[in-house]
Amino acid sequence: MRYCARCTFPENARPTIIFDEEGICSGCRVAESKQTINWEEREVWLKELLEEYKAKAREEGNPYDCIIPVSGGKDSHYQVYLAKEVYGMNPLLVTYNHCFNLPLGVRNLRNLVRRFDCDLIRVTTGLDKAKKLSRYMLKKCGDVTWHYHCGIFTYPFQVAVEKKIPLILWGDHARSELTGQFRLEDLPEFTKWCRQQYDMRGIEVDDIVNDPESGLTYQDMAPFMFPDDDPMEEVGVRGIYMGTYVEWDALKITRHLVEKCGFKIAQSKRDKTFNLYHKIDDHANGVHDYLKYLKFGYGRATDHTAEEIRCGRMTREEGVELVKQYDSVRPETLDTYLDFLGFSEEEFEKLVDNQRDPAIWEKDNDDRWLAKHSIATSDTTSNNMLEAARIPLVNEEDRTFGKNNRHYYYSKHFEKIPHINDRFVLDDDDEFLVL
Ligand SMILES: [Zn+2]
Repeated sequence: MRYCARCTFPENARPTIIFDEEGICSGCRVAESKQTINWEEREVWLKELLEEYKAKAREEGNPYDCIIPVSGGKDSHYQVYLAKEVYGMNPLLVTYNHCFNLPLGVRNLRNLVRRFDCDLIRVTTGLDKAKKLSRYMLKKCGDVTWHYHCGIFTYPFQVAVEKKIPLILWGDHARSELTGQFRLEDLPEFTKWCRQQYDMRGIEVDDIVNDPESGLTYQDMAPFMFPDDDPMEEVGVRGIYMGTYVEWDALKITRHLVEKCGFKIAQSKRDKTFNLYHKIDDHANGVHDYLKYLKFGYGRATDHTAEEIRCGRMTREEGVELVKQYDSVRPETLDTYLDFLGFSEEEFEKLVDNQRDPAIWEKDNDDRWLAKHSIATSDTTSNNMLEAARIPLVNEEDRTFGKNNRHYYYSKHFEKIPHINDRFVLDDDDEFLVL
């Protein structure tokens, strides 16, 4: 197994990753490209595009000029902040509620609606259906959060067609940012093909309903039915990623939202990562990341260390230590999950057996799974390549665990620091419970 000479990604990273002749991965190259993109020019393009849709909505008497799919996390907050406060749009927010919310996630979604005074449509999947889908998808593709992705990449399109709102504004283009599947230079937009292939792992509603093992009907799958081509074309539905027009620096964005917009981040140690602001809305993420480890031998700490290294806030060696510390951890929330799904841990692991990547996993003499490779134990990247791939580090205080970022990442000193969010308790006892 090869590992990127700059970050911590393995060559079996999903969905796809390419290593060049210098041993540097496509995700690192996309991060590099952000330095040479002319962001001012792109912002002008974005403003022109938004003005066009604003004028169209006015002409047609539609009160909303765009849809923003939101979960309540930092990206949703920033999308709405930009659209509403910077570009003067009147977005309709759309949420797919997957039922696995943490109190912090619900609190942040409530903050989003209050702070930006936006209208929100939220569809909630019945709990039994969520359970059936999670159980089925665990067996089928080892993904208990399939309905999250399918819901948020489908329901906003139903609303777009129904309310005749052609423009959908997404946040960053995650597949470019992480593993560099697309180049930001090409301004990738939402495609039905990517939704099907990657977000839904190639599994369509018909496949599920036609499989008697799923126990699900078309009625159960209502929020997941993607509109037909004809009404989509009639409305002219188009999804753009704001992160391809505006530089999407996750830490900078989060800092702005915490300080100015009442957004709250996690305030205690997390099982699967040192990062306290990514994916903090729901409790299934730890299980999702654990499954990724069981299948491909890496997890969320790999994603997050790669991001830190690419921003010059962390060395690769520091990243490897964190990957070692977090990626293989069994999350505490797994117990909640097993209870909910009605599986024993043994059954759960057995279901993933045939999905384990043979390039990583093998059985030992006692029939237990053993990871043959990890960046901490079997990295063969030469010193010359590592040195050539390094990028300059930022100032000490701006490093990941530096003074200026101490509320945003967990380290062993974390609990002793008064939390930044304590200054921004706004609405936890609010009598106007918007959600
Ligand atoms: Zn890399």
